[in-house]
Amino acid sequence: GKWVYTFGDGKAEGRANMRDLLGGKGANLAEMANLGLPVPPGFTIPTSVCTYFYANGKTYPKELQAQVERALEHVGKLTGKKFGDPKNPLLVSVRSGARASMPGMMDTVLNLGLNDETVEALAEKSGDRRFAYDSYRRFITMYSDVVLGFEHHHFEEILDAYKDAKGFTLDTDLDADDWVDLVGQYKDAVARETGEDFPQDPHAQLWGAIGAVFSSWMNARAMTYRRLHDIPESWGTAVNVQAMVFGNMGETSATGVAFTRNPSTGESRLYGEFLINAQGEDVVAGIRTPQDITEYARIESGSDKPSMEMAMPDAFKELTRIYTLLEKHYRDMQDMEFTIEQGKLWMLQTRGGKRTAKAALRIAVELANEGLINRQDAVTRIEPGSLDQLLHPTIDPNAKRDVIATGLPASPGAASGEIVFSSDEAAKLHADGRKVILVRIETSPEDIHGMHASEGILTTRGGMTSHAAVVARGMGKPCVSGCGAIRVDYGRGTMMIGSRTFKAGDIITIDGGTGQVLAGKMPMIEPELSGDFNTLMGWADEVRKLKVRVNADTPVDARTAIKFGAEGIGLCRTEHMFFEDTRIRTVREMILAEDEQSRRAALAKLLPMQRADFVELFEIMKGLPVTVRLLDPPLHEFLPHSQAEIEEVARAMNADPRRLADRARELAEFNPMLGFRGCRLAIAYPEIAEMQARAIFEAAVEAEKRTGEQVGLEVMVPLIATRAEFDLVKARIDATAQAVNRETGSDLKYQVGTMIELPRACLMAGDVAESAEFFSFGTNDLTQTTFGISRDDAASFLGTYIEKGIFTVDPFVSVDRDGVGELVKIGVDRGRKTRPNLKVGICGEHGGDPASVAFCHEVGLNYVSCSPYRVPIARLAAAQAAL
Ligand code: ADP
Ligand code: MG
Ligand code: MG
Repeated sequence: GKWVYTFGDGKAEGRANMRDLLGGKGANLAEMANLGLPVPPGFTIPTSVCTYFYANGKTYPKELQAQVERALEHVGKLTGKKFGDPKNPLLVSVRSGARASMPGMMDTVLNLGLNDETVEALAEKSGDRRFAYDSYRRFITMYSDVVLGFEHHHFEEILDAYKDAKGFTLDTDLDADDWVDLVGQYKDAVARETGEDFPQDPHAQLWGAIGAVFSSWMNARAMTYRRLHDIPESWGTAVNVQAMVFGNMGETSATGVAFTRNPSTGESRLYGEFLINAQGEDVVAGIRTPQDITEYARIESGSDKPSMEMAMPDAFKELTRIYTLLEKHYRDMQDMEFTIEQGKLWMLQTRGGKRTAKAALRIAVELANEGLINRQDAVTRIEPGSLDQLLHPTIDPNAKRDVIATGLPASPGAASGEIVFSSDEAAKLHADGRKVILVRIETSPEDIHGMHASEGILTTRGGMTSHAAVVARGMGKPCVSGCGAIRVDYGRGTMMIGSRTFKAGDIITIDGGTGQVLAGKMPMIEPELSGDFNTLMGWADEVRKLKVRVNADTPVDARTAIKFGAEGIGLCRTEHMFFEDTRIRTVREMILAEDEQSRRAALAKLLPMQRADFVELFEIMKGLPVTVRLLDPPLHEFLPHSQAEIEEVARAMNADPRRLADRARELAEFNPMLGFRGCRLAIAYPEIAEMQARAIFEAAVEAEKRTGEQVGLEVMVPLIATRAEFDLVKARIDATAQAVNRETGSDLKYQVGTMIELPRACLMAGDVAESAEFFSFGTNDLTQTTFGISRDDAASFLGTYIEKGIFTVDPFVSVDRDGVGELVKIGVDRGRKTRPNLKVGICGEHGGDPASVAFCHEVGLNYVSCSPYRVPIARLAAAQAAL
């Protein structure tokens, strides 16, 4: 087998596209060598050796040792040195490198090959004894730390004690003799603590380091990181062994990192830092303040230390040549590591640079405009989910944070406000123009008005798909959910975290992007949708096939969504209107009504309110399709629950609290999700559906009169399991439409369709499509009913399921292709067999999840519908799915 891949001197056995085998670092070192760039020669031991290592009781393939020896000789030849030679030693670095960059793996060991003999040779050849011993002490420190498990801080303590004794403050105060002295002390400490002398044999050092890299693949840190980032264990890591170049050889040497473009703004200018007379990670370690690379950055930062452009003009010119070449070659912004040894620049790493969403947009658009990539490439360069960062205000990254607790990052954006513990209080303070954060143990549909009135929502219970999280995302409000460290005491009006107590009225900030809860008001940065955003979204729109609609219940939602490019409303949940202001009282009257007649009386009061809502929505949507769903939740959700609330409501309604309590008890269900809801309400109380249909049609007539534009009206019946249910409700709707047409002399165009959200409806789709003119897959309910898992109760075991690998992702976040997806496919196929032009969409949380959007594209849906703030994400995901 081939277990070693060499690089250096303008050629390499590997290439950039061999990253699976060579790891990211190894593949790119090979690529740079092939490009003729100055890369210190070396070789990569591929990931296949890591796989072998774990499959064979931590042993190596038998040819490995000989292949490594040969490669070392080759590197020695290229550098004119010899590994282990006491007079002319080759020194190397040992670097780990997985396919994906992975913190948690073994740190790099530099200067390997140094021992008591070779250090003297290094001193002699360089003519700089201080440099040689500085290198040696670095090597002992790194090797002990990562290979022998003798931690860094031991050496720091020795160094501090030494400096104190000598009256030194800076490392630069130490001269060659001091380092010689310290190296002795370091070695003594290692021998004392580990029971063995520090290894002097360079080959033993090398194999120790190689073994440490492979072993670190299975350390706890790496395993945790892999779990969090879905990196398979089977990938393994590669090991890179590379000839050392020295940035610590005095004032003409340096080490640095640079990005070909600014990673936070995307500005097309070299951006980076370097340190003179330093090695390895000194730049990022923050031991000394690094210097700017370019002169313009130095001027901007006001630093009095010279830029690399001024201090090392030749190396700077070379870096400029190389970065330009690398960016052209990789056709993307690069993140590079380099070292300058006595004026000569060496490249040590390059990779696609991490960047903010804002920078990613600018870079993609500019690369396309520069002709380096085409527009479709640009569209694929942006992670759809990352757009979320751009659409909400965020905390100023430079502000000091007093984090009091951390929960789940349930809905992005950040907000500050006074703590309130009830939704009514939130609404009241909001009406007075105050900004509030609603803090609840959990929320329910009764909190909608409070959530609307708040800047953000904090709950101590519930997961990423809890009521609070879903509704907040829908509203585009920040939410931190499941913040279990906080104890809320509604009675006292306090919340406690450890020993800290906050009262109602105290100001806090929540960061829904990180899950942090912070004390006090934080400075915010407002989102700005730049020209780049619009440009890129325009390119995305050119290629996507799926339409993107919005789930919008209010004019505010609808306007936001139009701004974000929504092409219609895919789901308008009429019941959300029932909670607005004082309407809930009328709704309750309707529910408490003892007979049809009094129910109709209450409905008659609701009619004008619903109609007014629809008129406004239809006007905003200007002829775009609007899907209005009839009442869906169980009536019980509209009633008060606790005794105190019941009494309060009864008083306000002038009703008998006992009767209210009785009715609430009557309506209570063991399983509301599978209970008296959806079309079942319309079938038992047709007058409710009739009122809603009338409000819809009258509003359409009114809106058409005002705008002169025909409303794209779609009336949707929820939760059907049989065609008969649908037919019954549709008959009522049609009859109402005819009545309104007659009364107003209009000729309304509309369609009646259904939600497909029960497995039976998927199976019977062929039958249902005989009557239904469109389908909208309600994948939230379809997921609940397919798995038999209630979303509201899943939090207690979903985590365990994901931990144990039963679910790789939460099926309420990303559609389960295998099961739920199969039902969707069946539904689409059977539906279209009956009615070839059947319009099919999806509404619900999945509509804004990029992986689910890709699924919807694959199965040929016409549109996805999602919450307003996810509309751009869905547009981009739909475009990527089409490419
Ligand atoms: P990481 O994966 O953490 O970035 P690297 O393997 O890139 O670790 O090593 C960190 C740093 O060590 C590099 O940026 C470089 O400064 C230094 N380094 C690694 N190999 C060499 C070498 N052969 N010569 C000089 N410096 C090196
Ligand atoms: Mg690196
Ligand atoms: Mg539903």
